[in-house]
Amino acid sequence: MLYPLFFQPVYKETIWGGQNLKKLFHRELPYQKTAESWEVCCHKNGISIIENGILRGKSIIEAINVYKIDLIGNKGLKFDTFPLLIKYIDANDNLSVQVHPDDEYALKNEGEFGKTEVWYVLSAKENAKIIYGVKNGITKDEFKKNILKNNIEECLNFVSVKKGDVIFIPPGTVHALLEGIVVAEIQQNSDTTYRIYDWNRVDKDGNPRKLHVDKALDVMDFNLNGTIYNPTFSKFKTYSIANISKCKYFNVDEIIVHDKYQDETTGESFYIFMCIEGSGLLHYKGDSYSIPAGKTFMIPAKKEKFSIEGELNLLKVYL
Ligand SMILES: [Zn+2]
Repeated sequence: MLYPLFFQPVYKETIWGGQNLKKLFHRELPYQKTAESWEVCCHKNGISIIENGILRGKSIIEAINVYKIDLIGNKGLKFDTFPLLIKYIDANDNLSVQVHPDDEYALKNEGEFGKTEVWYVLSAKENAKIIYGVKNGITKDEFKKNILKNNIEECLNFVSVKKGDVIFIPPGTVHALLEGIVVAEIQQNSDTTYRIYDWNRVDKDGNPRKLHVDKALDVMDFNLNGTIYNPTFSKFKTYSIANISKCKYFNVDEIIVHDKYQDETTGESFYIFMCIEGSGLLHYKGDSYSIPAGKTFMIPAKKEKFSIEGELNLLKVYL
């Protein structure tokens, strides 16, 4: 009965979005400024709907209610709600400079979990940059002064990025994706963002977006300025694999399949795969499922062998 679940994307429009997900994945997008595609989500702002098999049209919540531990595994059962939010982000223009709270602060002030996130860069224009923490030696006082002078760009740590880079963002890290970058993002199931600076922009009605400077200053860690992680791949005959992110909320592996990749669930966690490049076929319990570029799917946690065939790059996300 259990089978791999494929989901309909949930699209989000913002002032900084664009058409790059169409370019990368040949998708029809609902908005001119499509900013995010929520690939697997179980949040009040977006809930994944299954698009294949007998559960077609049902939500991820209904699937979890039916299959429980067989779908989400021992580790998944420990959470009240589905613990992850997985998306693509098209930073066609600069995102706001922002920070996320940790669990303790977010549960107390927002009634939801905090946000630890990781980005995998799918494409980046030449000289693309992100904001990744504050410059060395910047104190909270100096930062505050520069906010008042509308001059915080002086305080921020700008870092160049390229395709394939992995950027881990713990709570408290000031960050922003800047113009010309598309990423896959794996994060805790939270939508709490404190905006510090929005490039003096206004929305289509001429209003600036809301800032949350006080809360941001509460949660900012001035000792965090990141370095980009360079994974080491283990090479096998038909694929290569590297762990690119490991924290208490999630694990992410990058898998480059040249021909065939075999794997097995163990009952501990579901596996979510994002096909970030290329295409292939999934073989599971005698059935085959086609995997076009961009597709995201979930393999149930219950012990089972499966394989993925083709020439494709995958991100594998698990608890
Ligand atoms: Zn963020």
